[in-house]
Amino acid sequence: MTTLAEALAHCREALAGLTESPRLDAELLLCAAAGISRTTLMAWPERTLAADQRRRLQVLLARRSSGEPMAYILGQREFWDLTLRVGPGVLVPRPDTERLVEATLAALPVDAALTCVDLGTGSGAVACALARERPAWTLIAIEHAAPALAIAADNARRLGLGNLQLLRGDWLDAIAPRSLDAIVSNPPYVCADDPHLARGDLQHEPITALAAGADGLDAIRRIVADAPRCLRPGGWLALEHGWDQGPSVRALLHAAGLRDIRTQRDLAGHERVTSG
Ligand code: GLN
Repeated sequence: MTTLAEALAHCREALAGLTESPRLDAELLLCAAAGISRTTLMAWPERTLAADQRRRLQVLLARRSSGEPMAYILGQREFWDLTLRVGPGVLVPRPDTERLVEATLAALPVDAALTCVDLGTGSGAVACALARERPAWTLIAIEHAAPALAIAADNARRLGLGNLQLLRGDWLDAIAPRSLDAIVSNPPYVCADDPHLARGDLQHEPITALAAGADGLDAIRRIVADAPRCLRPGGWLALEHGWDQGPSVRALLHAAGLRDIRTQRDLAGHERVTSG
């Protein structure tokens, strides 16, 4: 017989040193394996686990121990106030990316019938959050990778977002000249030789969503170069980027003719979102 309390202690021990949050991960894996809520876990620690629940727990624990992201194992991740489906093939939405959503909501008129593109939408996190917050806007979510696009479509459908269209494509290639009011993106921006790419959660996430050339700026350069062609006069561009890329991204926006360039910081106080 194994109680929930014993199973929890076992999981915590197994994950100690392997993940950044062994306590939380252990709780969530146990709840998923047992099919219970965290409230139940806390309220009835003496409840016993059935054999199939124990077996499921071993499988989930092995996956997490190998570094697979929690969001892939649980099949979902909270972003903004949405629960999004995620899985291998899409970047796991990060809290820092909510800054991109906040900056966009703050910069553009609420009720105007704007057309806003989200480039490299992945799970659809940014586009879904914007579509939900701004029913008057039309969101076009563009993604190159078919598996990611399928997940984004599923998220848009589950959330009932009728003002969100999905498009398979390469950055802004399919966009007509001067047709957009806004372009937002959390593109890949990690340097290709960054050793973090081979470690921890990152090694399980799609490399095309993370790495962008020797200085990490390949995707951003491409977007910024094409944005002026696609934006209407007075249009707006906002990009997430690495903590040390603020000066380079501001310089790129400036060189492309964008004005009112500003950078917002993330939860850790690092430069994270630059717009113009
Ligand atoms: N912020 C992510 C990380 O460093 C990278 C996401 C991205 O490249 N868009 O884990």
